[in-house]
Amino acid sequence: ERDWTVSLTTVEGRERFELDVGSYQRGRLTGSNPKAATLVKRQDGSSFIQIGVESEVPEPEHAVKATGVDLGRRDIAHTSEGDHWNAQQLNQVRDHYSRLRAALQRKVGEGTRSTRRRCRELLQRLSGRERRFQAWVNHCISTCVSGTESLAIVARAKATCSLIALEGLTGMRERTNQQSRSKVERRRVNSWAFSQWRQFLEYKAARAGVKVVVVPPAYPSQTCHRCLWLGQREGKRFRCVNPACGWEGDADLNGANGIALLGVAVNRGLLP
Ligand SMILES: [Zn+2]
Repeated sequence: ERDWTVSLTTVEGRERFELDVGSYQRGRLTGSNPKAATLVKRQDGSSFIQIGVESEVPEPEHAVKATGVDLGRRDIAHTSEGDHWNAQQLNQVRDHYSRLRAALQRKVGEGTRSTRRRCRELLQRLSGRERRFQAWVNHCISTCVSGTESLAIVARAKATCSLIALEGLTGMRERTNQQSRSKVERRRVNSWAFSQWRQFLEYKAARAGVKVVVVPPAYPSQTCHRCLWLGQREGKRFRCVNPACGWEGDADLNGANGIALLGVAVNRGLLP
């Protein structure tokens, strides 16, 4: 930190290299005690270093209510505040990669020796590109402002003294599989994207001092969040059949509000 250099042991002995970093990185490194570092060599011959620093996580603030987040099929995420992020574009890109991969895999089995090798190389490059695209999308949803005025989930939860309630992953998988068993749907839902998305959210929330609770996955999406009666769900619409309630609206919004209710219960220790 004195001269912003790192000391590396090379085959020709110890050498110091100057760090080419911005003010954000300097801020994080200042006064910290790096525990680990990895030197990474790029394909173009250049190198960079990843330095891991530990930081204290603030004590989660006392929450007065809960924001429920429903991780669904048509929308990547739908919150009880009504914010939602569409999965259509993401799914289109992923379907494209998936078709391309299937075509390449067929060729790996046929083709001449050099064709097979080229296909294998292409497959490898493809997996990295798809992963990076998805990581970028996930990052944006959990941190950035999406759209023009909708605040990100963490920022809004912090501003409204809310905790964030998420559904257990297994439930989400079962529930969505019940609704559709098509191969395309299953591939989307079972992918690692959802668990990575959750990791991002939990990480950002911890740093912001926002509590995250995971609610039991058995919550039926047919339950009305207003009166807890079973209602009717038809695609995107939900209709409560309780004559005293009669709530009607977006099915994902109803689901997210149900998750928020459960989140409050879990937080008060009323549910495991
Ligand atoms: Zn109702």
